Amino acid sequence: MTHAFNVAVIGGGIVGLAHAWQAARRGLRVALFERTAKAEGASVRNFGMVWPVGQPAGELHDIALRSRELWLELGRAGVLTVQECGSIHLAHHADELAVLEEFRDRRPHDVRLMTPTEVAAAAPLANPHGLLGGLWSSSELRVDPRVASARIAGWLGEQHRVACHFTTTIIAVDDNRVIATDGRTWQAEQIIICGGSDFQTLFPSVFTDSGLVPCKLQMLKSVAQPESFRQQPHLASGLTLRHYASFRECPLLERVQARIANQSPELDRYGIHVMASPFPNGEVILGDSHEYGDDITPFDKPEIDDLMLRELRKVFRLADWTCRERWHGIYAKHPTLAVFEAECRPGVRVFTGTGGAGMTMSFGLAEQAWNRWLGVTA
Ligand SMILES: Cc1cc2nc3c(=O)[nH]c(=O)nc-3n(C[C@H](O)[C@H](O)[C@H](O)COP(=O)(O)OP(=O)(O)OC[C@H]3O[C@@H](n4cnc5c(N)ncnc54)[C@H](O)[C@@H]3O)c2cc1C
Repeated sequence: MTHAFNVAVIGGGIVGLAHAWQAARRGLRVALFERTAKAEGASVRNFGMVWPVGQPAGELHDIALRSRELWLELGRAGVLTVQECGSIHLAHHADELAVLEEFRDRRPHDVRLMTPTEVAAAAPLANPHGLLGGLWSSSELRVDPRVASARIAGWLGEQHRVACHFTTTIIAVDDNRVIATDGRTWQAEQIIICGGSDFQTLFPSVFTDSGLVPCKLQMLKSVAQPESFRQQPHLASGLTLRHYASFRECPLLERVQARIANQSPELDRYGIHVMASPFPNGEVILGDSHEYGDDITPFDKPEIDDLMLRELRKVFRLADWTCRERWHGIYAKHPTLAVFEAECRPGVRVFTGTGGAGMTMSFGLAEQAWNRWLGVTA
């Protein structure tokens, strides 16, 4: 039997949910298909950091801030807890502090510098040993990635009548029909494929020519820390300055990059920088590393965890470093685009490749895409 919808979204990660929400809030009838019983991809494996400070100034930063507003809207609607926690980048080297100062000079309205004493007061998890200062940004949010996708899907079903079909793998898109493994079909005027890093199942040739690559990250979670170590802000290290595009605005970044490349090439080899997202229950999500394309194996590398812990211990201070969990996640990344979009045939689009910023960017990117597709001027 074929059911008719305006929009079919394939993939129940944050990108698919963002599209389902944006289409539904425009009054369109939406069906969403997720192959697992609840989303298990990159969207549940991340830090839960909504991270506008990492986006380059201009359009991408504006999209991140718009996404932030939309997350806060979900928080106000009671869909999930959204904490306005902010973030601090720590400087334990003079060249890192110089980049933070340069960044502050470029974005004086977004960020401010903190003394080591101010950092210590705001962030008991920051290692005070050798700390030279920090960069405070108030725009970052924390959401719990383990619950966010399921809560948003439930809310879309209840409040926006999105028909969410879990345990439903779409194996083909034929004209304007999506076809599941068990032969069920659904008709939709527009089909948006948000399959994350699955480049094999639907329209594989589109991915072959796309430039998209999978990227694997290893992650850790600490046991709960005692009350005196609990805090609000996300923390990032000096190593993180190499990772986010926003800091490429700073010419002095080259010095940090050169020092790391000379002193610790193993960190570049595995794309390691370290961040901490402390949750209210005292557990801290820690990471991360980056391996791309053919370097990815199904097996996690203990040496990556060891390197991450070595660097984490330099910049953060936990009362108990016991790892409660270890896992990896894989996302799709494009070398130059914030997201990869392709119209495979009329009315059928692929939308993926949000890289390491899907929690930060998806809502704003989806809103922008729907405005464009429907000819709405923002
Ligand atoms: C370890 C890690 C840490 C990260 N930290 C952050 C962070 O703190 N902040 C941030 O902004 N970003 C972060 N990211 C990036 C962010 O998580 C991703 O950009 C985002 O989750 C990608 O969402 P997605 O919906 O494209 O992919 P996914 O979450 O992988 O979802 C794709 C879904 O599609 C489903 N699917 C695929 N094919 C089919 C099919 N044929 N039929 C039905 N279903 C299908 C899959 O089962 C899957 O659930 C991190 C990523 C990782 C891996």
